Amino acid sequence: MRVPFLDLKAAYSELSRELDEAVLRASHSGWYIGGPEVESFEADFAAYTEAKYCVGVGNGLDALTLALRALDIGAGDEVIVPSHTFIATWLAVSAVGAKPVPVEPASGSYNIDVASIERCITSKTKAIMPVHLYGMPVDIEAICTLAKRHGLAVIEDAAQAHGAMVGGKKIGSHGDVVAWSFYPGKNLGALGDGGAITTNNEAIASRVRELGNYGSSVKYFNEERGVNSRLDPIQAAALSVKLKYLDGWNKRRQHIATIYSQALRGLGLSLPNVPTWAEPVWHLYVVATPERDALQSRLASAGIQTLIHYPVPPHLQKAYQALALKAGTLPVAERLAKEVLSLPIGPHLSAGDVDYVVSVLTAVA
Ligand SMILES: *Cc1c(COP(=O)(O)O)cnc(C)c1O
Repeated sequence: MRVPFLDLKAAYSELSRELDEAVLRASHSGWYIGGPEVESFEADFAAYTEAKYCVGVGNGLDALTLALRALDIGAGDEVIVPSHTFIATWLAVSAVGAKPVPVEPASGSYNIDVASIERCITSKTKAIMPVHLYGMPVDIEAICTLAKRHGLAVIEDAAQAHGAMVGGKKIGSHGDVVAWSFYPGKNLGALGDGGAITTNNEAIASRVRELGNYGSSVKYFNEERGVNSRLDPIQAAALSVKLKYLDGWNKRRQHIATIYSQALRGLGLSLPNVPTWAEPVWHLYVVATPERDALQSRLASAGIQTLIHYPVPPHLQKAYQALALKAGTLPVAERLAKEVLSLPIGPHLSAGDVDYVVSVLTAVA
């Protein structure tokens, strides 16, 4: 028996007729940059995320970077980021010339510890950039309250959290701006790269659109030094199809997570905790154990593919040597890098596969 970590082809196969039709429609439309496919997806995704505006961009990293630029965050500024996240969160801050200031996860959680943020705020802090990691929402209401008290902006990294909710409200407009990735493996994934921001702030929305279009809103007149980062119409067409299935696919992930959480109790693994106010979308189902490497190889021997998100925390990457955050400075992130293991999860994992993963884990954990 072989259980892949995630079967991307299966997501395409389920909707291949509709997706092929959408891609062909975009091809035949004559609009290859912007146009009706992009506008229609932006409107649908804004509605889905309960935000007033959505602006498509080239990818998730650009969404974060352009969000920071739209808030005039740059050289000399500090931005609070999680110590435990995908490196893109930090890279966006660095890309605008600002400094990422890491805050460790709360105990029993993989998300930033809201109670520890305040201690890291200095006169240079301009924004908090929380991540809804693994599809588990952070306590965004508490973060927004804290940010307001200190006059800081909130930029949410929602690259793993399409459809997640806090207190019954969708992630998408709690903070000043929310950044999304449509990388193929995300809960809402394109047939290639894609990204977007959502916001309730019209000025931020139009600034991101302008920045992603060479800093121009009127062709050949450039207000500032922008970049080229736009959502492709073919990707927008594919995303419009997939958006209709997102809730159903998230429900399937939820169902698998419920099975894992019930069946894996008592095996000595740390299982994900779901706060009462949170509705996660289970981008990943992550367990933790000091015996991680041994467990991973036992699962691999049984044909079960698992992944590690992430094996090296950003501060210990060569890319961040210059920050001089040596090993030992962020012990929680460093421990998680050694202990976390992502189990197979996705809308196309069969009930038989889930049962098999549970039975192997029960035998070897
Ligand atoms: C995927 C991801 C990104 C970057 O998105 P891309 O579209 O790959 O650029 C940023 N942050 C997090 C947390 C991610 O998982």
